[in-house]
Amino acid sequence: MNLISSIADLASFHSCACVPTMGALHKGHLALVHRAAQFNKPVVVSIFVNPTQFAPTEDLSKYPRTLDRDLELLRAANVAAVFTPDVETIYPKNNPIPTPQLPAVATQPRLEDAFRPTHFAGVCQVVARLFDLVKPSIAVFGEKDYQQLRVISDMIAHENAPSQFSQSSVSAAKSPARNGGERWPDLKIIAHPTIRDTDGLAMSSRNIYLTPEQRPQALGLSRALQHARTHDSPAAAEEAMARMLTEHHLAIDYAVVRDARTLMPISDFDRPARAIIAARLPTVRLIDNAAIH
Ligand code: AMP
Repeated sequence: MNLISSIADLASFHSCACVPTMGALHKGHLALVHRAAQFNKPVVVSIFVNPTQFAPTEDLSKYPRTLDRDLELLRAANVAAVFTPDVETIYPKNNPIPTPQLPAVATQPRLEDAFRPTHFAGVCQVVARLFDLVKPSIAVFGEKDYQQLRVISDMIAHENAPSQFSQSSVSAAKSPARNGGERWPDLKIIAHPTIRDTDGLAMSSRNIYLTPEQRPQALGLSRALQHARTHDSPAAAEEAMARMLTEHHLAIDYAVVRDARTLMPISDFDRPARAIIAARLPTVRLIDNAAIH
């Protein structure tokens, strides 16, 4: 397994299957790695705790960092290379990295975009930078962060075909790697379903913040999603989720049913829909989602 921290050393892995992560790896990340391995391309996992996607009030400094264990897991998973850039490599001081234009799904739904207003600008910035450096042909992302998955998919579509989107000239002017063609012409995004513990809790690096007493409470999210499935209107499903979360003494940021593509509100189950939750315990904020109808 190659340990790469410089841009030059990435050159031999262009066209790889890439799995971007922030480390503190768990079985959810490893499932993405195994999915990436199915494409018969070298698998490159990036580990970078991206400062620009954390608000000043969030957990950047205490975000779990377990690099030695991560590398052991990735070696056992037979990945070709692990890219562990430092902040200066991703964000060189003398060459500011532009933030790609945010797609509507990063600003309109009032979900993570409302509760973490600077988050998706940071996500798009780092993912675009990683794609420019790593030049993967496959990138695997988890459905666990469903709005992020939709944002990245639309950002790629947007950067590759700016003329099809409004305000495209802004994006076209900012994009560093485009010469009249697509910025990432061969890139395909693969979505991987959420991996859960046996009790239903969606795996997350942040689950280590849960105390043993909080764990039964945290199960409120997956139970609410299960429960939502038994209702035949989005409004009824939302009510049922709110009840379940409250019964588990969770503070609700949102518990909604949305159009699975745009993440905008719907009044009927007349299209693919997604139930999406963010809820808080005193020490941790949890997110989860599921396809519904
Ligand atoms: P993170 O390290 O949290 O930035 O996550 C890196 C990638 O792993 C993202 O694409 C996440 O959506 C994905 N991921 C995180 N947790 C899970 C999970 N439980 N199941 C599937 N994918 C996950």
